[in-house]
Amino acid sequence: MSRPARVCINLHSLRHNLSRVRSLAPGSHVLAIIKADAYGHGIVRVARALDAADAFGVACLEEATALREAGIRQPVVLLEGPFDAEDLESIERLRLQTVIHDPVQIEMLERSRIRGPIKIWLKIDTGMHRLGLRPGDLNPCIERLRRCACVDDDIVLMTHLACASEPGHVLTDSQLQLFSSLTASMRLARSVANSAAVLSIPESHCDWVRPGIMLYGVSPFAGETGADHGLEPAMTFRTRLIAIKSLQAGDSVGYGAVWRCPAPMTVGIVAAGYGDGYPRHALSGTPVLVNGQRTRLLGYASMDMLAVDLSTIADARIGDPVTLWGEGLPVEEIAASAATIAYELISSVQKRLQFVEDGPG
Ligand SMILES: *Cc1c(COP(=O)(O)O)cnc(C)c1O
Repeated sequence: MSRPARVCINLHSLRHNLSRVRSLAPGSHVLAIIKADAYGHGIVRVARALDAADAFGVACLEEATALREAGIRQPVVLLEGPFDAEDLESIERLRLQTVIHDPVQIEMLERSRIRGPIKIWLKIDTGMHRLGLRPGDLNPCIERLRRCACVDDDIVLMTHLACASEPGHVLTDSQLQLFSSLTASMRLARSVANSAAVLSIPESHCDWVRPGIMLYGVSPFAGETGADHGLEPAMTFRTRLIAIKSLQAGDSVGYGAVWRCPAPMTVGIVAAGYGDGYPRHALSGTPVLVNGQRTRLLGYASMDMLAVDLSTIADARIGDPVTLWGEGLPVEEIAASAATIAYELISSVQKRLQFVEDGPG
């Protein structure tokens, strides 16, 4: 029998979550963000499931190549743009669109012999201070792009919000105001909203929304789950019990003897660990489902296994199903218990796991 640890991807939930985006932003096109192997869900699988999206956003050429090799024909946008001049040839060959965020990239376009026309998403830094043109460089950069024979005239102006997942943050207001004052008179398409802004800032939606995390059914807001926003988790991390121990008060479990039984108890050993992407920092007490019933992690996960409390699970047997996150157990809860964010957990599931589509369990 193969190792029972697996990741189940619910394609129906992915489509449902895209339809939630559509109903929240009815006037906007959707650039579905599927970078980082679609946040761990599998980039080709997700692109096929979300074929109703208007375009896909990826981080790099390798990801875009995987989509084209799988026959995905929708527009694909490189979110960080070309890393060097050679990338422009691949952009043309693969019929990609690209973000341009720095004058160095404009120089690459000016010197390039590609014919294009390449559609550009021009990124302005309105306060996140990661990627993007300085506001004062916007007009001269647009002039330069307009003179490039290989650049499509239909440029999209975009910016990215640093604090949209903290409702009411002052930086969000200042970013939105700056973006609007820079772009209001330009008659070009605009794009601002990530998932948090799709969910909470309707005035940011404009021509293109750029949802990522919400497509996977996860909330970008601390203290909430996707279900609070009508979303369904697309990823469920499942495995099984592979051993059951009856231990005495004072017995320890696992490396470092970190967990000690306060009383006689039944402990289950589960086939999944940090080598699969389960967080090593998850604390004792992190929720786990055994047979659909909630119990808790004991000690830290090891590489391939972790221990759970079976004291409250009647009739647990070797082979019983375990859910580490997903349907019935929001990944947001696991993230909170591991001092991280759900984005990191879902995008860290390892390729050694079996991936199953629409798997019931
Ligand atoms: C990753 C990313 C998004 C999606 O963000 P979520 O918080 O996952 O919705 C949107 N825009 C850009 C530029 C990104 O890099």
